[in-house]
Amino acid sequence: MQIEIDLKVTLDTPFSIGTGATADSVADKPLIKDAEGYPIIPGSSLKGVVRHECERIIRSLIPAFDDQWICHPPLAKNMCKTDPICPVCRIFGSPWYPAPITFENLVLATESKEQSRTWRGLRSVRKTSLRFGVGINRSRNVVAEDLLYSTETYAPPQALVYQGRIWGTLGERQEIALLLAGLQSVSTIGGDRSRGLGWCQVEVAVILDGQSVPPSELLQELDQWSN
Ligand SMILES: [Zn+2]
Repeated sequence: MQIEIDLKVTLDTPFSIGTGATADSVADKPLIKDAEGYPIIPGSSLKGVVRHECERIIRSLIPAFDDQWICHPPLAKNMCKTDPICPVCRIFGSPWYPAPITFENLVLATESKEQSRTWRGLRSVRKTSLRFGVGINRSRNVVAEDLLYSTETYAPPQALVYQGRIWGTLGERQEIALLLAGLQSVSTIGGDRSRGLGWCQVEVAVILDGQSVPPSELLQELDQWSN
């Protein structure tokens, strides 16, 4: 089945998805930006979060999951290598099994860019800021100076809307149901959840073999996994 999922991600708090330190930024974890300088949400970051949710969901649907399949990401050697491929690797792939679907990067939605055409609005949308975090050395219970780190965050005044797309081919409707359930349980994106960063809501529109299908209808097929 050809599947295409249009995604709308609304960020309620600033987010930070860093690249690791680079020479052209003073932040330790600079944001990844598009050619115009707007921060993007890499498809690979979203894929990682959704995969994690799907792993959690499938284990609740199939209590004997770990008896049927031995798959413990993220270490490559512990993931599905040959048949039977577990339901999660069938959707997201493993180092030996190519993922049948692609997560495209999420970009700032056009309408948000349009709304910000005034000089002040444009300035506020383009503005990123640095947040400083402090690492605590738990064994000594002191703030270790070398653990001080900075994170570049993106915090415009209004809620941010990002759009993206997932597309590819999946074998069964129940796999699509699992993917949708995973997408809908994502509540944060980026690695700094505990610091209140990256809280979001995900909305989806699904096209299956060229036909629009309500996500609620597909989600009903989630039960198939427990049979
Ligand atoms: Zn697997």
